[in-house]
Amino acid sequence: MKIQNFIGTFVDPNNDQWIDNIDPATGNVISQIPSSQAEDVNLAVEKALFAFSSWRSKSMLERADVLDAIANKIEERLEEFAMAESLDTGKPLSLARTVDIPRAIANFRFFAGAVRHDETGCHMMAQAINYTCRKPIGVVGLITPWNLPLYLLSWKTAPALVMGNTIVAKPSEMTPTTATMLAQVIDEVSHVQDIFHVVHGYGAEAGAAIVEHPQVKAISFTGGTATGRQVAATASSHFKKLSLELGGKNSSIVFADCDFEKTVSGVARAAFLNQGQVCLCGSRILVERSIYVRFINALIEEVSSLTVGDPRNPSTKLGSLISLQHREKVERYINIARGAGGKILCGGDRPSIGQGFEQGAWLSPTLIADLDVNSIPSVEEIFGPVAVVHPFDDEEEAVRIANGVEYGLSGSVWTQDITRAHSVAQRLETGMVWVNTWLCRDLRVPFGGVKASGVGREGGRYSLEFFSDTQNICIHLG
Ligand code: NAD
Repeated sequence: MKIQNFIGTFVDPNNDQWIDNIDPATGNVISQIPSSQAEDVNLAVEKALFAFSSWRSKSMLERADVLDAIANKIEERLEEFAMAESLDTGKPLSLARTVDIPRAIANFRFFAGAVRHDETGCHMMAQAINYTCRKPIGVVGLITPWNLPLYLLSWKTAPALVMGNTIVAKPSEMTPTTATMLAQVIDEVSHVQDIFHVVHGYGAEAGAAIVEHPQVKAISFTGGTATGRQVAATASSHFKKLSLELGGKNSSIVFADCDFEKTVSGVARAAFLNQGQVCLCGSRILVERSIYVRFINALIEEVSSLTVGDPRNPSTKLGSLISLQHREKVERYINIARGAGGKILCGGDRPSIGQGFEQGAWLSPTLIADLDVNSIPSVEEIFGPVAVVHPFDDEEEAVRIANGVEYGLSGSVWTQDITRAHSVAQRLETGMVWVNTWLCRDLRVPFGGVKASGVGREGGRYSLEFFSDTQNICIHLG
């Protein structure tokens, strides 16, 4: 099967070059996608620019109705979307069905509701009145990673569209399918043609061409920190608006007074959901020394009970990694840890999943102890099912270890002492902190990181502001 670009309609890439799309659970080629170049991007931008004047002239409420219609269509096809996501990523179908696709639906409904209740400013002076307008920017570029493909693309698409922009999107070359399905849905329900285009291909080619295009006025990028640095360098020289959601190396800080059972399962979930391939994953587990041995033993038991297997089997908790290359990268970190005297508490091996899955990118969930807190596996983003554990003696030390990384995306604190929870949370150098929970998401709150984890915030009004230009108009009252 060939998945084409969506540039007003389904089209082949200009150069007729294709990339294999692989199901990472089996190693089978499931489709081919365009290896698009600048000329494909140029065509998409040209069409998006042409559509901009019609789309921006719709009222905000009409655009909100389109978002609801998109949500309804995805909901009708939920099973099909979930299967496509599971096949592209190797993640459990149950996860795609209960998290990825429902969240994409929620993203469209949330931003439709948000603008229906939105307000803009009015500032009175003795002799004049100011009012503030939000105007669409124009054509915006959305570039997204492979770990939560539709979830993250819809998180950008919904606010960008509702504010009146038109879009050229590039999903990860490893997870192309649901973006294409989304393009088809938007085309069916939007009543205005050409507002959303998908150009597939490699980041350094199709992605870079979007970032470089002078008519693309804003870039919303989610991906790795190294890529984000390149995107930032190009976009800033064109004075484009830029939102960067980048990598993370997040700590789960466990105090002796935590609710023990809930914390064990919460910390395990934070480390290994989606095979540890979530930017927010708590892959550094810091445990107060007085409960360290007991907690680690319970954690080993919990992690060892996570069933790794056929993503389509309902009892599967962890699927495959995104690719064999990515597994190699993750295993390199495990080997570095072994070389540095790290003790593999569980996992560290390739599980045998059975017939048909021999060529898949399988890796058991892995816990590693006895490493230095500044060792490479403890400070670099591994982005796989590998977590390191470290003991700490007091709050000061916990905060120091947690902040001792270049990233600053999120963290979680597990304690029943509310004063300590506030105190530790506020000292963490991260954009987000959870207390006694993880990945509890309210779509209104600011989402994003500090340090090498990114620039800017997404969510609620932060996204609406990013995808619009603010204009103040001051009228003298005469
Ligand atoms: P990546 O940086 O390799 O790729 C992300 C996207 O950028 C892909 O679509 C890729 O094709 C494209 N790209 C690559 N080079 C490019 C270039 N030069 N110009 C323009 N586009 C380019 O990241 P990945 O491996 O797909 O995803 C994993 C990373 O994403 C991890 O670091 C993870 O932490 C991060 N992530 C962050 C968040 C967040 O919200 N902070 C969410 C999910 C993932």
